Amino acid sequence: MKQVAILGSTGSIGRQALDVVRAHPDTFALYGVSAHSSEEAFLSQIEAERPHLAVFSRPLCCDTPGVDLRFGEQALLDLAADPHVDVVVLAISGIAALKPLLSALKAGKRVAIANKESLVCGGDIVKETLAQGRGELLPVDSEQSALFQCLQNGRRDEVEKLILTASGGPFFRRKREELRRITPDEAVKHPTWSMGRKISLDSATLMNKGLEVMEAARLFDFPGERIEVLIHPQSVVHSMVAYRDSTVMANLSTADMRLPIQYAMTWPERSPSLASPLKLWEHPDLTFYRPDMGRFPALQMAYDCLKSGGGCPVVYNGANERAAELFFAGRLGFLDIEDSVKFALDRFCNRPMGSLEDILAADAEARRLVDEFENTRSWI
Ligand code: NAD
Ligand code: MG
Repeated sequence: MKQVAILGSTGSIGRQALDVVRAHPDTFALYGVSAHSSEEAFLSQIEAERPHLAVFSRPLCCDTPGVDLRFGEQALLDLAADPHVDVVVLAISGIAALKPLLSALKAGKRVAIANKESLVCGGDIVKETLAQGRGELLPVDSEQSALFQCLQNGRRDEVEKLILTASGGPFFRRKREELRRITPDEAVKHPTWSMGRKISLDSATLMNKGLEVMEAARLFDFPGERIEVLIHPQSVVHSMVAYRDSTVMANLSTADMRLPIQYAMTWPERSPSLASPLKLWEHPDLTFYRPDMGRFPALQMAYDCLKSGGGCPVVYNGANERAAELFFAGRLGFLDIEDSVKFALDRFCNRPMGSLEDILAADAEARRLVDEFENTRSWI
């Protein structure tokens, strides 16, 4: 029996990870959960699931018989490293997942990682922590899971390129001018996946695909020049690997995150899953397009950041996180998101990220620069 800790259990991925645990009662048991917001949802989750340990960011006044309820950042890091835990599902959103990731890897856990921001920002530190211990990283993000699976069909030196697919988001067919007035409600309506609101917005701006290019580079130690993005609006092909003999391996399934979550938890085994079988005859029009970098500059910026290295990926992510907050608060427009990320990157003095402190300082600087961007322009 494998003991599982779900960090970010009230979120979209966290709730689906719970479904996976419940669907495999002979393989997985829920040891711990953590959350940061939605107190009520968290408390009803604890009541229904009865984990041993539950961690909330702030103190909660309540009685949870049989459940050890703890609070604050240290309690979260302790849960990630708890000796009873075998698998940590990292479903926290944003750079806030970086410290729990390092804590889990140092303690030698298998981390089923949905969070991409921590990989993008953590860079070499995550790599070093992995190299030093027994921890393992198994991707949950559907595209990375697809690449991970396709990469099992050949040697690394036989791989020509990684091909990430992108749905293109809800505005794939809109002209750039039409994007100016997009509202938060429109931006989070994803055509093929149901996800948390930050990643839904990132899919609309293509920041998500930019983050995924960097995530793939980190996970598979692969240069940006050989990571390609293809727009594929149907989200049936989750990504592909092109080999040097011109063979392309693709990973296909219905769009259901419970599948890659489960694979990261059970690998190298495969078990029956909650995802319904793919009926390819229901998808007669699978289409692929090269992305228009001019219309969605977020993607080009990600490639540039990967090339520059140092703190640029951290600033790309931190500026985007802050811009998303301001967009949801009605203080920035849709196109201001990429403009503010560009503003922050243009002003950031790049330097190596040798420590966690360096990363957190670059992240704070990026957020400050986006606030400066907001202050120096007028938005109606
Ligand atoms: P979500 O917003 O639905 O849930 C986030 C969870 O993290 C919640 O439980 C929240 O309480 C917790 N959290 C938020 N801020 C925190 C903090 N500062 N400290 C501790 N906990 C915090 O997000 P989601 O859509 O489930 O996405 C989670 C992560 O998985 C993101 O990094 C996202 O990019 C990635 N991801 C999501 C999907 C998806 O389908 N939703 C797919 C691929 C990758
Ligand atoms: Mg993805």
